[in-house]
Amino acid sequence: MDTSNRIYLSPPHMGEMEQQLVAEAFATNWIAPVGPHVNAFEAELAEYAGSGGAVALSSGTAAIHLALSLLNVGPGDTVFCSTLTFIASANPITYQGAIPVFIDSEPQTWNMSPAALKRAFKDAAEAGKLPKAVIVVDLYGQSADKDSLLAICNSYGVPMLEDSAEALGATYKGKKAGTIGRFGVYSFNGNKIITTSGGGMLVSEDIASLEKARFWATQARDAARHYQHSEIGYNYRLSNVLAAIGRGQLRVLEDRIQAKHAVYNRYFEELSPMDGIEFMPEASYGRATRWLTVMVVDPAECGLTAAVIMDALEKENIESRPVWKPMHRQPVFANHRYYPHTDGKSISDYLFQRGICLPSGTSMTAGDQARVINSIKKVFRLQQKRKIS
Ligand SMILES: *Cc1c(COP(=O)(O)O)cnc(C)c1O
Repeated sequence: MDTSNRIYLSPPHMGEMEQQLVAEAFATNWIAPVGPHVNAFEAELAEYAGSGGAVALSSGTAAIHLALSLLNVGPGDTVFCSTLTFIASANPITYQGAIPVFIDSEPQTWNMSPAALKRAFKDAAEAGKLPKAVIVVDLYGQSADKDSLLAICNSYGVPMLEDSAEALGATYKGKKAGTIGRFGVYSFNGNKIITTSGGGMLVSEDIASLEKARFWATQARDAARHYQHSEIGYNYRLSNVLAAIGRGQLRVLEDRIQAKHAVYNRYFEELSPMDGIEFMPEASYGRATRWLTVMVVDPAECGLTAAVIMDALEKENIESRPVWKPMHRQPVFANHRYYPHTDGKSISDYLFQRGICLPSGTSMTAGDQARVINSIKKVFRLQQKRKIS
């Protein structure tokens, strides 16, 4: 593979301040999972998101894990979780010995279906075993319909955890995604809209719970001179060096969102007129970041499958990916309960079969993007010729 001209899905894109802030970490010798950049990154992120507080962690997965701990999820419990997501949303449920139950998407935003969630709750209530939490994922930079979902959760007294790992900067009715449920989670993995190479953040209004998460994230050390532990903890804190990168990245986040929109707009203009291509819809209740531009291909209309288009892109050294394979289709979660949007209609399965995530890097040049667009147009033209001859 020639990496020099390869176009990636969503590569890191550093701003101007990151190196300087990292240099400061070196100059002051704060090369540790603690330090002034960690504290400042938490404060600045909380300020940006509009949350009561924030805890900087080694990953978004760690943040979900600690949130589930804070919600007392334990062995034998169930947790409802969006099915159309990256597996990191669901894995921490199993770390706690609990069992995930998967909830489908709705077609308007591809996020958790309130109709499916309602049915899942009804069954759970009838069986006398409510879930301990509901993990709502904000997919590809767009918030789920939080008011509808939260109202259902509230009517059963079950807390909502927002997995906004892909949606930092997305809004829902004027609030930031991640600040609406009991806890919210962001990720700074290398492919996310801003990155620290790896890292995550847990946010909440509940400052006491965040303090507890901080305690667990640093091996649950009691307040004593000697090393004393009354609880089992984890090594989940974010490094001060990486927090320095995060602070620099946070300053360019709004620029990155604008750039993601520009990428999306170019794809939409060039490709949406083509038969059989549609783009991920955007709800009117907020701003999506378009972390990834995702399109859906209808073979009945264009004679092409998503797989054929992805193969053609790969031949041109362009990375693309299917939409997430739903959790209820994962071998590791075989036989777990699943609630489709309506009986007999699974939206997530439909999207998995037809969806393509297009290269959406904010540092991608217009020329690079033209390469992607022209490659797709080329496959369509070839198919057209085949049809005529
Ligand atoms: C990236 C991602 C995570 C995990 O974040 P990490 O920082 O990689 O652990 C969780 N949920 C979703 C939906 C993600 O896309």
